[in-house]
Amino acid sequence: MAARDAAKRIDELRRQIEHHNYRYYVLDDPEVSDARYDALMRELRDLEDAHPDLVVPDSPTQRVGGALSREFAEVVHAVPMLSLDNAFSEQDVVDFDRRARERLDVAAIAYSAEPKIDGLAISVRYEGGRLVQAATRGDGAKGEDVTANVRAIRSVPLHLVGATAPGVLEVRGEVFMTRRSFTELNRRQEEQGEKTFANPRNAAAGSLRQLDPRITASRSLDLFFYGIGAAEGWHMPRRHSEVLAALRELGLRTCPEIDVVDGVQGCLAYYERIGRRRDSLGYDIDGVVYKVDRLDWQRDLGFVARAPRWAVAHKFPAQEETTTVRDVEFQVGRTGALTPVARLEPVFVGGVTVSNVTLHNMDDLERKDVRIGDTVVVRRAGDVIPEVVRVVPELRPKHARVVELPKRCPVCGSHVTRTAGEAVARCTGGLVCPAQRREALRHFASRRAMDIEGLGDKLVEQLVDAGRVETPADLYALEEDELAGLERMGPKSAANLVEALERSKQTTLPRFLFALGIRDVGEATALALAEHFGGLELLLDATVEEIQQVRDVGPVVAAHVRDFFDEPHNRKVVTALRKAGVRWPEGTRTHAPAEGPLTGEVVVITGTLESMTRDEARDAARAAGATVTDSVSRKTTLLVTGTEPGSKLQKARELGVRIVEEPGFLRLLGRPGRS
Ligand code: NAD
Repeated sequence: MAARDAAKRIDELRRQIEHHNYRYYVLDDPEVSDARYDALMRELRDLEDAHPDLVVPDSPTQRVGGALSREFAEVVHAVPMLSLDNAFSEQDVVDFDRRARERLDVAAIAYSAEPKIDGLAISVRYEGGRLVQAATRGDGAKGEDVTANVRAIRSVPLHLVGATAPGVLEVRGEVFMTRRSFTELNRRQEEQGEKTFANPRNAAAGSLRQLDPRITASRSLDLFFYGIGAAEGWHMPRRHSEVLAALRELGLRTCPEIDVVDGVQGCLAYYERIGRRRDSLGYDIDGVVYKVDRLDWQRDLGFVARAPRWAVAHKFPAQEETTTVRDVEFQVGRTGALTPVARLEPVFVGGVTVSNVTLHNMDDLERKDVRIGDTVVVRRAGDVIPEVVRVVPELRPKHARVVELPKRCPVCGSHVTRTAGEAVARCTGGLVCPAQRREALRHFASRRAMDIEGLGDKLVEQLVDAGRVETPADLYALEEDELAGLERMGPKSAANLVEALERSKQTTLPRFLFALGIRDVGEATALALAEHFGGLELLLDATVEEIQQVRDVGPVVAAHVRDFFDEPHNRKVVTALRKAGVRWPEGTRTHAPAEGPLTGEVVVITGTLESMTRDEARDAARAAGATVTDSVSRKTTLLVTGTEPGSKLQKARELGVRIVEEPGFLRLLGRPGRS
């Protein structure tokens, strides 16, 4: 790149990085993933390496952290708090070890290998064994005074233990939040209508950097100490691992996963070992840190601008990345469920490239408010399928499009329904939809449905793949010759199958209804429907309210039945099946509406009645000719209220529905005086 272009790009990168530093370190509310930030930083570092004359002391590559918030008092660190250099590959670690050995002129180095806790750095100062000050890392030289807040963290001792406390001890560690506390905190925040945190690190930072220490105290923070800054009047051990042991003896908590390992091989084995357990640690780590264990060697190696030469952070592949949503499409599952799937600008996350992510259902999509064009945070942890964690609202473009549930199934064009109270939207074309075809046919042929012997899963698959069968009605057009020509089918089994098909035509209404595969209509419901209506015709034209009269059928199932028969594609198949000869003895209606004082009324009963249970009241209303439903709608003509009637009363009032209390109801039933 020409020097002029490089200077321009460097400028741009510095501005972007400063902005992200501010969002991350001061606001605790990052806009981009760490991986994206690291990529910007790497690009800047590479450019500065290629153009050393453009390096300035206040470049983000030369400094630690970001600006300090003015809300806290400043604390000057006795010993600066540095950052760590990163290693993103094994080769980076090999190079780090080689450079260290060459500088020290030694053959092998023992390292303290430690999880890199994803929290925020803190320095805690003890004088005469008493906690006197705590500060954030800030810009490395000066931090923010968060003493009162750190005192609120239970795992931080206010007094060191042991007989001989050092005169001065500045200990460094990482404040973090466990995943469990993070989930709990976000749940509480959501409940109280407060802002939720993007991840445990931001939650920890946001909770520690509170002006009111009572808030910090109410949020479960933890702390692991991992080193020291200044020390006076203390017998300094000779190794870093011994420092950690000494800290533990003083009552300071260190991470139990820390280990001393030999050379680069030991480091890489440790990385593997911790990496495998990453998801089960209970707290987020974003890599491991290798530190030269001998302190005299650490001193010999010294520092560069912003990081020690004796330590390196070996990063794990990022589990979160940001990318943009190109489109949202709907997939139809075997049971007709419509799943919104985000088509993403491909992004490398958790070790793989992700370009499609399921958004589960409309509820989830609406809750997260994902729009086409949005920038989203995608997470892939371990083997868990990738997910959209959240939208970055600041980066929403003006033209971002709200995702709408299609009215028609993208596969078969049948109507799509979304029952109130259900997260999932469904294609109603159960009998015709290619996405549901295999499942529908398998179910249709199954023993408890039409009981077509010999029509197993494999054969269904073959017939569908060959394009021979699209709906259950097509089964009855199959001929022996063509069946015999199929793989694994001899003339004998073909003849048997045709015979079985023929036999299955004589069935019963409950079996037939069950075989149609209407959502939530199992055998028991199919039987109840058949008994209630006696024949198919009445059911085909029954209203939702009428269907709800059937024993054990609530509003949701009633709506599914109605939706199914409202879809013309399904009606066509039902007609075709009957034309093909499928038949059953029609019964008599067991529940023909009674004639009585409530004939024509659509009744809802709410609250507790005194003289009868709610079920008894429903039966009584039905016996008096009423249609009884569970919820108040425009169709409701009468609301019966007991004590504590709840929201139905309100709704009925709004809709101007006639309302009677128990005595009035009893009068209507023709049973006055019993109350
Ligand atoms: P760093 O977090 O990568 O590494 C240094 C820090 O590691 C130390 O300050 C310490 O707090 C921590 N640490 C955890 N365990 C440790 C251990 N056992 N021993 C020693 N230190 C340990 O570097 P940084 O300079 O603090 O921050 C840069 C990183 O912060 C970036 O790589 C990025 O991941 C993130 N960041 C993100 C954004 C964003 O917008 N997303 C912005 C700024 C920074």
